[in-house]
Amino acid sequence: MPELPEVEVVRSDLDPLVRERVITRVEVGRDRAIRREADADAFRAALAGRAVTGLGRVGKFLVAHLDGPEAVVVHLGMSGQLLFAADAAAARPPHTHVVWTLDGGREVRFVDPRTFGQMFRARADAGGGRPDALAHLGPDARDDLRDVEPLARALAGRQIAVKLRLMDQTAVAGLGNIYTDEILYRAGVAPARASGTVTDDEVAAIAAATAVVLSDAIAARGSSLADAQYVDGFGRPGRYQEQHAVHARAGLPCPRCGRTVARLKMGGRFASWCPGCQS
Ligand SMILES: [Zn+2]
Repeated sequence: MPELPEVEVVRSDLDPLVRERVITRVEVGRDRAIRREADADAFRAALAGRAVTGLGRVGKFLVAHLDGPEAVVVHLGMSGQLLFAADAAAARPPHTHVVWTLDGGREVRFVDPRTFGQMFRARADAGGGRPDALAHLGPDARDDLRDVEPLARALAGRQIAVKLRLMDQTAVAGLGNIYTDEILYRAGVAPARASGTVTDDEVAAIAAATAVVLSDAIAARGSSLADAQYVDGFGRPGRYQEQHAVHARAGLPCPRCGRTVARLKMGGRFASWCPGCQS
């Protein structure tokens, strides 16, 4: 599933291409891709004629800001892709469910084989902040954790495993299975530790690791794993998987200490961690 770095790469790819462009036409090929909307006609009508004023991001959600009281929130889900097509005549990929035609004939295509992703309208914040539909999300893992306090508050007093707490989008927005594995490895904290037992020094280490891992992952244009379909706004895979220390590396040696990377079933997922480097 695309996490914060992958969504940020798509945002930064598409923002300069859609900014100040007018949406001239909206096609919906599969209603499930806009399932929060009452009907496709209303969705199409609300967007047609609107200018895109910028593409933002909150956690794992993209937010297309429009010149009006509404924004469009896009969630890529498990396998969603938001692709830019400079030439509308170029063949659309299979599973293209929503297409925005922009003035000048360019297209933004929402492609999603598994259709867990979706897009929907939300009331925009007049001050340029989060739309109402995303108000429940915790601090953004990249933009709002420059100070340790929000992270300390999110982890304090909880019995749940620290990895699962970090994956709870209402606690911290943007992290999933891949990046919590890599962040906790770098911070030296075992994933099964109760969130509330994490010390002040460890909170600081997790915050610092979060900044470094997310920054490195964005620089490498995200992670594209064998079982995932993540590609950037131009259809290209990321390369950060080549730098993963522990995620999806169970049974292989830890790059730092050489011990075998372990795997632990947790919340229906598998955590990968190094028993030599994390405690
Ligand atoms: Zn190790």
